Amino acid sequence: MPTIGFIGLGKMGSPMARLLVAAGHRVLGFDLSEEALTQLAEAGGAAVHSASEAAVADVVILMLPDSNVVTAVLRDTDVVSALAPDSVVVDMSSSEPLRTRELATELAERGVHLVDAPVSGGVRGAEAGKLTIMVGGDGETVDRVEPVLALLGRTVRCGDVGAGHAVKALNNLMSATHLWVTSEAMIAGERFGLDPEVMLSVFNGSSGRSGSTENKWPNFILPGGYDSGFGLRLMLKDMRIATDLARAVNVEPALGDGAVELWSRAAEDLEPAADHTEVARWIASASPTPDN
Ligand code: NAD
Repeated sequence: MPTIGFIGLGKMGSPMARLLVAAGHRVLGFDLSEEALTQLAEAGGAAVHSASEAAVADVVILMLPDSNVVTAVLRDTDVVSALAPDSVVVDMSSSEPLRTRELATELAERGVHLVDAPVSGGVRGAEAGKLTIMVGGDGETVDRVEPVLALLGRTVRCGDVGAGHAVKALNNLMSATHLWVTSEAMIAGERFGLDPEVMLSVFNGSSGRSGSTENKWPNFILPGGYDSGFGLRLMLKDMRIATDLARAVNVEPALGDGAVELWSRAAEDLEPAADHTEVARWIASASPTPDN
């Protein structure tokens, strides 16, 4: 079984790394957070204290916040020297497709392969090994990492390197736009006197259905937990990646830009660690009831 380096043991990376350990892989995990390292060690993984110590593995998985962090890690000279020729770096973060392609070219000069494999399915999907994994890369390299990825979820081959990151960002632009308009509709309906459960039941059998009506509103918003585990700022990052991508191929993202503007306003008001489902509460508070 290949040794796995796992860099980025946050809300997603931590349960993913634990699943790989449980399947019998030797996992060399690194994160800036000591707590995350302790948790990995408790689960049977090998906590290491630098990215370069994780980079010596056969397969090096990254589950980091964004392309800035991914680029900093992959251009770190210690990491570059630690990466073995013919090893595979799998960037499972939601990164920027054009920057992913640049990194793939840089790594290829050293004989290292890069595959992008961002995910959807959230923290619950990560814990259950039921993520949807959007894979970009050449077929032969993807074949090599497929057995590892299969432990984390269902893979969908999207095309060459960067294709996974592109489709992931586009998905999240759609998801964020759905969540915003669903929240407006739910709040308006409630104020009109409709029962939220009844509304969701109707929407879920009708054309207004989306991940927001099937999952986010019933599981994280209506119960009042606002605890999906996916940060608002990470969602906004993905939306910007998607609108930039659209512009790069000469598509005007008119609604997408509007959604970015609305989500940016919420992000300015809410605390940095706010969950993305908090936008529903923010929309309600930004729309006081007529008698207030
Ligand atoms: P997170 O903030 O919980 O985790 C990121 C981790 O990276 C943190 O533990 C942080 O300490 C670590 N880190 C940052 N810089 C580092 C560095 N230089 N070296 C080592 N570790 C470093 O974020 P998350 O929610 O786990 O998301 C990770 C990625 O997955 C993001 O790109 C996000 O957009 C994407 N994603 C998240 C979800 C979700 O539901 N949370 C779903 C799909 C995709």
